[in-house]
Amino acid sequence: MNAILEKVNISFSNPVNEEETDLSGPRKVVSPQLYKPNLMYAILYMFISFAFYAGTIGFSYYSFANTYWWLYPVAWFLAGTGVTSLFVLGHDCAHQAFFKSNRWNDFWGHIVFVFSFYPYYAWKYSHNAHHKHTNLLQANPKDIYYDNAWIPLTSKQYKILKRMKPKKALMYRIGRLFPPFGAFMHNILTHYFPSKFNKSQRKKVILSYFILGALALGVMGGIFYLTNSVFAIFHFYVLPGLFFAFWMSLYTYQHHTSTDMKFYSPRDWNSYKGQILATYNSLSPVWFSILHLNIDVHTPHHLSTAIPCYHLREAYKELKNSKYGQDIPEGKLNFGYYVNQVKNCHIWDETKGQYLRFNEV
Ligand SMILES: [Zn+2]
Repeated sequence: MNAILEKVNISFSNPVNEEETDLSGPRKVVSPQLYKPNLMYAILYMFISFAFYAGTIGFSYYSFANTYWWLYPVAWFLAGTGVTSLFVLGHDCAHQAFFKSNRWNDFWGHIVFVFSFYPYYAWKYSHNAHHKHTNLLQANPKDIYYDNAWIPLTSKQYKILKRMKPKKALMYRIGRLFPPFGAFMHNILTHYFPSKFNKSQRKKVILSYFILGALALGVMGGIFYLTNSVFAIFHFYVLPGLFFAFWMSLYTYQHHTSTDMKFYSPRDWNSYKGQILATYNSLSPVWFSILHLNIDVHTPHHLSTAIPCYHLREAYKELKNSKYGQDIPEGKLNFGYYVNQVKNCHIWDETKGQYLRFNEV
């Protein structure tokens, strides 16, 4: 059990820097050049991302060309792992961090999101809301807040939902107990309805539907043209995109949800608590971390979204060596730890300031 729960550092309840309420201090310990895009690194990371994806699609082709059907699920999972790398690239583009030019960021962001079926602008807006309100229980109702970082319902909210909208309560329950389903539903329910966005955002949200639709048709048409097979469209494109939900849910869940981290009421929340104390580094082996563009090194990303993914490791080192290092909750990527959190983190008890299981509500 202890091995499962092995952690490098958990400091949620006793922050060393109790006096900090914002990010101005920790931002100063990271070198200014790490906040800036760097074209050479951007090209290198883009190459890693596309080469990795192409490699996984190569495996899909191998299984397809030889009709090794027993390898198909492995191929879908691997290709979904490749899609994750492209998604992380798009994530940096959505933060305008990857390239200096915003146009380039938006251009490549749209392109790479086609493999995971995310409308780029819609996700950009919902994700920015996540950064603005990380682990805050209730945001300003005027802000959109479609956080895919697993905001829990409070026990009061869950009880009301169960009574008034039992189907929604059931969906919430399934999504929390089987996070890939939750991640998939989150994409559909919160990104594909323009009415869910502020008026000023809707034009761009709709534009990204058209771009996604056109690119998806192009990809599907291309696959059909090359293979003359409808199954190939699923094999090379649709199923990897669905398997991607596994990684999407794993990362988003682990980054901010565990029995060791809190959600804060608006009275209690500040950016130091949200971005540092409630952001968890689930550290993968370096080779794998780089294939996923360092998404596991998450605290520096929450310190500032301007830090591009290719600078996260350096920024992390600087932050870790500073007085703020001890306040960073983190551990090695551990599937058992993740499963343990999924078993426990269902509903937020505001009075006790901790998670409850469904059967405890
Ligand atoms: Zn982000």
